[in-house]
Amino acid sequence: MPLENMTDMLAKASAGKYAVGAFNILDYNSTKAVVTAAEETSSPIIIQTSTKTAIFWGTSAIIAWVRELAESSPVPIALHLDHCKDLDLIRQCIEAGWTSVMIDASARPFEENLALSRQVVEMARPRRITVEAELGAIVGVEDDIHVKEQDAHLADPEQAARFCSEVEPDCFAPAVGTAHGVYKGEPKIAYDRIDQIAARTGVPLALHGGTGLSDEVFKKCISLGCAKVNISTQLKYAFIDGFVAYHARNNTEYDPLKVIGAQFEELKRGIIEKIKLFGGCQGEQEG
Ligand SMILES: [Zn+2]
Repeated sequence: MPLENMTDMLAKASAGKYAVGAFNILDYNSTKAVVTAAEETSSPIIIQTSTKTAIFWGTSAIIAWVRELAESSPVPIALHLDHCKDLDLIRQCIEAGWTSVMIDASARPFEENLALSRQVVEMARPRRITVEAELGAIVGVEDDIHVKEQDAHLADPEQAARFCSEVEPDCFAPAVGTAHGVYKGEPKIAYDRIDQIAARTGVPLALHGGTGLSDEVFKKCISLGCAKVNISTQLKYAFIDGFVAYHARNNTEYDPLKVIGAQFEELKRGIIEKIKLFGGCQGEQEG
């Protein structure tokens, strides 16, 4: 099928109380692993690129391999630009064929974040491109935020309501206590905020910092309104470990395609696990 935006898939996920997995790809092999995992579970999927990956390969190479895989696939697939602060890159991705983008102006003061996010919605909407916007600070685990400090970084439900009513994002990423990277201890998720923000905004929420959360945490966040779950770090690990582990087992063999194949299987296995956990395959069967 042609690439689609996130509108339908997130509306269905919200209604069905499941979440669509958004996986950060790194190259053709990881993209193929994401698409194959979606096919094997009959699930919709969001292929995400970080700005780093988009710049590393260039937008025309990425759109070519994503389209090649998506157009011959029976499952709904969106191509989404993750955390982008740069309007020029957002524009470039939209022109290349991305169907969805995230404007991350969350480091700016509230009014500036609101204005910039709205500007992206106005640029994207006439072209049927969906937009995700962020409020609060989704920290990296390396930022070592203490629990006391955490509350200051979380999205405020009152502000979230105003932000969403003025920006009208298709998907909203409020900071709710998750972090990017690998958690050192048990993350403290502000479930009450997810609940209040989902109720007050009515917008499908994106859960960032998914790698390393327990099954129970995922399920609770999804039940409260997270319709998109981002997984990035897990794929970085599988990408490298899948490669290295194969070579460690077969260290006299120098057949790159076998190593690439092992990497693909390792990526796909982890992605399928997450899709099943998020409930997307069940939702797809329900139509
Ligand atoms: Zn994120």
